[in-house]
Amino acid sequence: METVSHDVLVVGSGLAGLRAAIQVAIASQGKLDIAIVSKLLLMRSHSVAAEGGTAAVLYTEEGDSTDLHAYDTIKGSDYLADQNAVETFVTEAPNEILRLEHWGMPWSRRPDGRIAQRPFGGHSFPRATYAGDRVGFYEMHTLYGTLMKYSSVHIYEEYYMTDIVVEGGTCSGIVALNVKTGEMVGISAKSTIIATGGLGRLYGFTTYSHTVTGDGAAACYRAGVPLKDMEFIQFHPTGLVPSGILLSEAVRGEGGILLNKNGERFMQKYAPSKMELAPRDIISRSIVREIQEGRGYEGPNGLDYVLLDFKEIGRQKVMEKLTMMVEIGKSFAGIDPTEAPLPVRPAAHYSMGGVHTDLNGRTVFKGLWAAGEAASVSVHGANRLGSNSTIACLVFGRLAGQDAATYAMNSTVRPSIPRERILESERKLFSGLVGKEGGEDPYLIKNELHETMDRFVYVFRDEKGLTEALKKIRELKGRAKEMRVQDRSREFNSNLIGALETSNLVQLAEVVVNAALLRKESRGAHSRTDYPSRDDVNFLKHSLSYFSGDGPTVEYSPVSITRWTPQERRY
Ligand SMILES: Cc1cc2nc3c(=O)[nH]c(=O)nc-3n(C[C@H](O)[C@H](O)[C@H](O)COP(=O)(O)OP(=O)(O)OC[C@H]3O[C@@H](n4cnc5c(N)ncnc54)[C@H](O)[C@@H]3O)c2cc1C
Repeated sequence: METVSHDVLVVGSGLAGLRAAIQVAIASQGKLDIAIVSKLLLMRSHSVAAEGGTAAVLYTEEGDSTDLHAYDTIKGSDYLADQNAVETFVTEAPNEILRLEHWGMPWSRRPDGRIAQRPFGGHSFPRATYAGDRVGFYEMHTLYGTLMKYSSVHIYEEYYMTDIVVEGGTCSGIVALNVKTGEMVGISAKSTIIATGGLGRLYGFTTYSHTVTGDGAAACYRAGVPLKDMEFIQFHPTGLVPSGILLSEAVRGEGGILLNKNGERFMQKYAPSKMELAPRDIISRSIVREIQEGRGYEGPNGLDYVLLDFKEIGRQKVMEKLTMMVEIGKSFAGIDPTEAPLPVRPAAHYSMGGVHTDLNGRTVFKGLWAAGEAASVSVHGANRLGSNSTIACLVFGRLAGQDAATYAMNSTVRPSIPRERILESERKLFSGLVGKEGGEDPYLIKNELHETMDRFVYVFRDEKGLTEALKKIRELKGRAKEMRVQDRSREFNSNLIGALETSNLVQLAEVVVNAALLRKESRGAHSRTDYPSRDDVNFLKHSLSYFSGDGPTVEYSPVSITRWTPQERRY
């Protein structure tokens, strides 16, 4: 058992975590001692998988404006985004693109050498700044290279945070498992920033890797931080069948089209002015409708699908700008998309909800911030626009880093993690889980969770399905308390990590489904067939789910409306 102490602790090394850490170093001119903790090798964070683009207004002289970006984002959010947060977001976004440019980001270029941008769904101007179809990979490398300039950064790779420690309303750090040795560590800090990413692995059919399990959101929730708007899960329209691997919106941004079994370009019916570049919630519903009404193709294991056709883009442009899509098509569907269309259906892709924070990433506890997909500021409201997440990680990662640095520089108290807290976690993991005889298999629990979420908490929901899902999840929650870990070793015990992640997922599933049951309206990605309309009178509000022993309790908070009055959403 070990304890270490730093000034600022960043948990998570994706775009949000790295951007926050760089800002701490900049703000303190390298004086603050910074720790980055990541359960993965730093560059294996899921952000490296971001494909299509990062939104920001760059060309006002060509007609784009921050007001337009704000309006698109707010309309896309079905008016649930906090408009004060969106105004900050769109104003700060261009600065982040240029900052990355100065730090060496190889943005794709126009023929005249200026930064290129491409169209993305729900944006009324082509403002997705990109680097081929690997924007996250290059952004991560750019941030990593920049971070390496600062000697005050300590990286704890393959350390799994089990819990956040809060005492008397102040966060003093975390307890983590050193995955390599199996030792428990208390890592204390004046400021702790949670940047642990989303929770895509609540679902079986998802674009996310197996590592995206909502650990940070679950740890905050257990510590008493409310989770905001958790009922809003985004389904990306074009998950490749059967794996769920993402086919970027950039495909449609560059001219790809969607076809049903009759060869019809069906988006004409649902969003005639935007077609395949309507927001994701609308396209996902359209695809599911086509399938439900018999105009989809029959797929394996019930994964019926429509087609994403690259023909209109032209082979040369595909080979120039969408090379990864070709690799994915060939490797995971056995189809070269320059020759034949790819089978797609909506896949769980993004969590609009997350740890409740203010604009600077502050949570309800002193010394604790959150940023990136783990957090909900909220700029995405009920439905995020494509290319608005990576930029949100940069903008709000910076703001959280700045605020956390200021706090740490002004704080004279150096907190510590009580030995008893570390021992308690040690006992929970190694006596409770690893040492157990008999008990429940975590992998079976996770599979049953996936089946439940894929079936009842998908693009369309209703009271009956959600009630059934909640009942099942509560059963799984009970069984998760009885989990056993077969592998008894200390070093690299991936069975143990799997069990901890499953336990977090089950906890978060209960929050998602409970909030979805209570929101008796359809807004953005939360589409209830039994309440098909948006209800601004009763539900223009954020849900806040709080931990309690009996399951989440939900309160609501108002949405900030500054300049854009909620209207009917048409495309
Ligand atoms: C395939 C795909 C493509 C996408 N493309 C785009 C795009 O083109 N444009 C766009 O705007 N958005 C895109 N998105 C969304 C966007 O990539 C993500 O929302 C964003 O990258 C999340 O970044 P993050 O920093 O919040 O988290 P992540 O990058 O997921 O990083 C999370 C970090 O937390 C660490 N962590 C997690 N749990 C623990 C724990 N218990 N202990 C210690 N460390 C932990 C992980 O190791 C990791 O370092 C895409 C998403 C997917 C799935």
